[in-house]
Amino acid sequence: ANTVATVTITGAGGQIGYNLLFRIAAGEMLGPDTAVRLKLLEIPQGMRGAEGAALELQDSAFPLLQAVDVTDDPRRAFDGVNVALLVGSRPRGPGMERGDLLAANGGIFGPQGEAINAGAASDVRVVVVGNPANTNALIASAHAPDVPASRFTALTRLDHNRALGQLAAALTVPVTQLRDVTIWGNHSATQFPDVAHATAAGRDVAERLSEEMGADAAQRWLAEEFIPRVARRGAEIIEVRGSSSVASAATAAIDHVRDWVHGTTDGWTSAAIVSDGSYGVPDGLVSSFPVTSEGGEWAIVSGLSIDAFAQERIDRSVAELVEEREAVSALGLI
Ligand code: NDP
Repeated sequence: ANTVATVTITGAGGQIGYNLLFRIAAGEMLGPDTAVRLKLLEIPQGMRGAEGAALELQDSAFPLLQAVDVTDDPRRAFDGVNVALLVGSRPRGPGMERGDLLAANGGIFGPQGEAINAGAASDVRVVVVGNPANTNALIASAHAPDVPASRFTALTRLDHNRALGQLAAALTVPVTQLRDVTIWGNHSATQFPDVAHATAAGRDVAERLSEEMGADAAQRWLAEEFIPRVARRGAEIIEVRGSSSVASAATAAIDHVRDWVHGTTDGWTSAAIVSDGSYGVPDGLVSSFPVTSEGGEWAIVSGLSIDAFAQERIDRSVAELVEEREAVSALGLI
C-alpha cells in the first residue's frame, strides 16, 4: 500500500457497521493501494458490539488493516479522519414525533460535526447513512464551519442501486448496461427515481420499456410500480427479511465513497450533496442530484431538461427537505 487513510465509522457496533468494517478492511472501499486505520465510534450501550467486531477484525489478519480503535468519544474517533461514515443514528421509535426524532439526532450529529471540525484531516469526506440522513448531514455540516459544506454528503446510492436493480430486471439487461438513472431529493418515501435520461445498452430506457410493454403500460409501470417500489423498497425488505436492509446499505456506502475518491466513469450516479441552487433546489440544502465525481469532488450534472412531471416530483421531495431544515432550525440545531 502507498498511502494510509483513517476511516471513522459511527454506530460501528450495529448491523450495517458489522457489514461495512470487514469490506473496508479488505480494501473494497479505498482500493488495494490504501492501507486503513479504522476508528469505531459507539455510544456506551453499543461498545461491546464494536469491541467484538474489533476482535474479529484482528482475527481476519487483513493485510491492509493497520489499526483499530474503539471509542465512545467523538473527539478521539474523528481525530485525523479522512473518511467518515456516519451510520449510527436514533431510529424513530413507537409514538415518537418527528420533532423528537430530529432533536435526538441533533444531539448526535451536532457534536459529531464539532468533533470533525476540531480534528479531521484537511481532505475529510463525510457520508451520512443514519436517518433522516439528508438533514443529519446538514446538522453535522452546520457544526463544522471550517470544513467546506461540500464535504458533507448523505447516502442515496442505495436508492440508486435499487433503481438499477428494478430496471435491469424489467428490461432483462445487466446492470452494467444501464446509465444515467437519477435519484432526486430526500432519502425518504418522497424521493424521485428518474429514468428520463437513462439509457440501457445505449438506448433510451423509456423507449425500450414502451417497446416491451406498450407506451401506456410503460408510463403506468414507471409511475405506479417502479417509482413507489424503489421509494418503498426499505419497507419491502423489512417485511420479507424481518429486519431492515444491511448488506445492501453497506454496499451502497462503499460505492459512494469509492466513486467520490476514485471518480465516476460511465455516466453519472446519485448522491445527496449540498445544493448550489440547481434545478430549483434551495441553496444549502443537502439533496440528491445526478452527480459525477472527478478529482475527488462531486459535481452536479447540469443542463438536464426536466419535464413538468419530474419537476413536480422533485419539488415535492425538496419541500420535505425545506420543512426538515425549518424544523431543525426552530430547534436551534443548525
Ligand atoms: P443499522 O446498523 O441497521 O442501521 C443504522 C442506521 O442506518 C439506522 O439509523 C438506519 O436508519 C440507517 N439506514 C439508512 N438507510 C438504511 C437502509 N436502507 N437500511 C437500513 N438502515 C438504514 O442499525 P443498528 O440498530 O443495528 O445499529 C445502530 C448502531 O448505532 C447501534 O449500535 C447504536 O448503538 C449506534 N449508535 C451510535 C451512535 C454514535 O456513534 N454516536 C449514535 C446512535 C446510535 P432507519 O432506522 O431510519 O432505517
